[in-house]
Amino acid sequence: MKQRVVLDDKAIDRTLTRIAHEILENNKGTQNLVLLGIRTRGVYLAERIQSKIAKIEGITVPTGVLDVTQYRDDVTDRVSADVQAFQIDADLNGKHVVIVDDVLYTGRTVRASLDAILDHVRPSRISLATLVDRGHRELPIRADFIGKNIPTALSEEIIVMLDEIDEKTQVYIK
Ligand code: 5GP
Ligand code: MG
Repeated sequence: MKQRVVLDDKAIDRTLTRIAHEILENNKGTQNLVLLGIRTRGVYLAERIQSKIAKIEGITVPTGVLDVTQYRDDVTDRVSADVQAFQIDADLNGKHVVIVDDVLYTGRTVRASLDAILDHVRPSRISLATLVDRGHRELPIRADFIGKNIPTALSEEIIVMLDEIDEKTQVYIK
């Protein structure tokens, strides 16, 4: 199987630095800012952005975890919609929530994330950061902060590796 590296660890680091700056510019600082990473790799990306923001602004913004498996439209046996799909030590009401994920594809995961959040809280604003946008949207959803647009064939797959859980940090196309 042919593999093509599109982002190495240095490129990913620079990309996340840029995204951190873009979020800060867009939000005019860290006020009311909250990051929510989508399980699994979105969580590590959110934490990396959190530490970039801390380096730039000297402020650690609240960062939590979103698990949207129960909110997907292909899940028929929902345990209970009362199970809060996100974990964060902050009140999200009135906040600017930035959802962070590794790859944006059809948009269904993001739609599920919006449901998961809005079932429980009322943020003033929700935006989306993704490391890779690979295209092929099936819903009217777009990212506000994009690491890299990688137009893909349906047969291709983007492999995101982060050294928090993988043996190295890189993005490649398979
Ligand atoms: P969507 O819901 O937009 O179709 O897919 C996005 C979700 O599925 C993300 O959470 C992402 O992790 C995963 N995903 C979809 N396509 C790919 C891909 O090509 N590579 C990786 N690593 N994840 C993908
Ligand atoms: Mg994912």
